[in-house]
Amino acid sequence: MTCACCIILTTIGMLRLVYDLSNRYDSEGKDTSLAPISAEVGATRAGGFKSMYSDRVFLSHITSDPAMGQEKPVFFSLYAIISHIKPDQNMWYRACTTCNKKVTEAFGSGYWCEGCQKNYSECSLRYIMVIKLSDPTGEAWVSVFNEHAEKIIGCSADELDRIRKEEGDDSYVLKLKEATWVPHLFRVSVTQHEYMNEKRQRITVRGEAPVDFAAESKYLLEEIAKLTAC
Ligand SMILES: [Zn+2]
Repeated sequence: MTCACCIILTTIGMLRLVYDLSNRYDSEGKDTSLAPISAEVGATRAGGFKSMYSDRVFLSHITSDPAMGQEKPVFFSLYAIISHIKPDQNMWYRACTTCNKKVTEAFGSGYWCEGCQKNYSECSLRYIMVIKLSDPTGEAWVSVFNEHAEKIIGCSADELDRIRKEEGDDSYVLKLKEATWVPHLFRVSVTQHEYMNEKRQRITVRGEAPVDFAAESKYLLEEIAKLTAC
């Protein structure tokens, strides 16, 4: 039996929702507040970068198909949590401050850049790391390069190196732990590479964004609507 209080409370709730929505509509305009997230789906942004909401898959979609990416790289979006960052991996490389390519220690002093064909007195560190991602369907190791790793870790590789050297291993490990168990939206590529005469799948982060929970709810509601429309 439906009680009168429930009806009143539900009605108040709905009225509040309508009020909130109409306020948002008035303040932000229909283009921004009520445009479906699907309008962004498939839309290619500048630089060929697709929306974080297009081609969304679970990790198992990638890991259950070891041959994926054999013919050409394939791209997906993920909503995943960083579940592990190994502290004992080689996290970075010494890079040329002009062209970002790897440098080697020069004879005498400084660093030699093959790309620039030049000797520099200084170099900078750039991240190149693997992290473990998890979602409700499983987990996978993915490669992350400097631009995205800086956002994930929250500081540059030079800064993390400084923390390790000056503040010690505990501070360094703490910094990595702070970046763990954080959800992100990822755009990834899936390719195949050869390792010891064996083809292996490689997942690489190509884009990263913090989770926008409002946009995420909107996306899920649209996905549910698609399911119930069938
Ligand atoms: Zn260079």
